[in-house]
Amino acid sequence: MKRIILLATLVTVGALSLGVAAFQQPPAAATAPKVVEVQKLRDNLFMLTGNGGGGNTAVFVRSDGITVVDTKNPGWGQPILDKIKELSSKPVTTIINTHTHGDHVSGNVEFPATVEVIVQENTKANMQEMRGATGVTPNPPPPNIFKVNNGRGLPTKSFKDKMTVGKGADEIDLYYFGRGHTNGDAWVVFPALRVVHAGDIFSGKNLPLLDANNFGSGVLIGDTLAKAHKNLKNIETVITGHSTTMTMADLAEYAEFNKDFMKDVQAAKKAGKSVDEIAASWKIPAKYKGYTDPASTPAQTARLKANVQIVFDETK
Ligand SMILES: [Zn+2]
Repeated sequence: MKRIILLATLVTVGALSLGVAAFQQPPAAATAPKVVEVQKLRDNLFMLTGNGGGGNTAVFVRSDGITVVDTKNPGWGQPILDKIKELSSKPVTTIINTHTHGDHVSGNVEFPATVEVIVQENTKANMQEMRGATGVTPNPPPPNIFKVNNGRGLPTKSFKDKMTVGKGADEIDLYYFGRGHTNGDAWVVFPALRVVHAGDIFSGKNLPLLDANNFGSGVLIGDTLAKAHKNLKNIETVITGHSTTMTMADLAEYAEFNKDFMKDVQAAKKAGKSVDEIAASWKIPAKYKGYTDPASTPAQTARLKANVQIVFDETK
């Protein structure tokens, strides 16, 4: 009798968590097949993408197991694990999350409970709360996926400014260079392969999402990017949060782009312009080629105004 009650409870909990996963995504994305695409960056390093999946995932095959960087949207953990099985028979032992956002951490809950999860310490605190990102999360925000899953997938280890995991060909160096996209953006370096995963502090050649709810900063992001560029030596390939891979020269340019944006907004504020006036007139400087035009989509237009507001508010 007890066993039947327990089973019924499990079935109910299972149905609830499925409902939550469906609620977090638009209906089309929830029902569309989750197809994981693989791009081989090195013999033992892969970038996994998927339409509607969220942020770029890195899969690093070490001598003794596999490290996964970022785990995409709800429901994408298992498709990632299935794809990894095609790449290697080694077990996944470690997840590293670049930051707290749901499209980079939600798949964590589908990995084995024994997997170690490493993040920057501010991201550890943010993942307890899973606050919605400024300007993009619906109100009310979706339920905290980690609470729904009884804490499974939450960080088990954190670092402040730097941490090294493994050695030799297996080494991974984790860095924190300061606030930007959030206050916990980790840079994940594979030194033997000369690759870094930058996460969303460099999501692509576009205006960044500045998530003030998770303590991101439009005034500091340019300096943080420049600090990363200065300190990360011997890197050939930058994995971005959502775009193609880039180079360190692209990263240096992106730092300048963000500093220029901050200076433009601060100068306009000083000249007495309002947030609306600045957002209506700002254009991407001509020297930045291949950047997404804020006028190209309503989402980018909204992001421009949100970013102007954030720099405006941070500037006294
Ligand atoms: Zn993000």
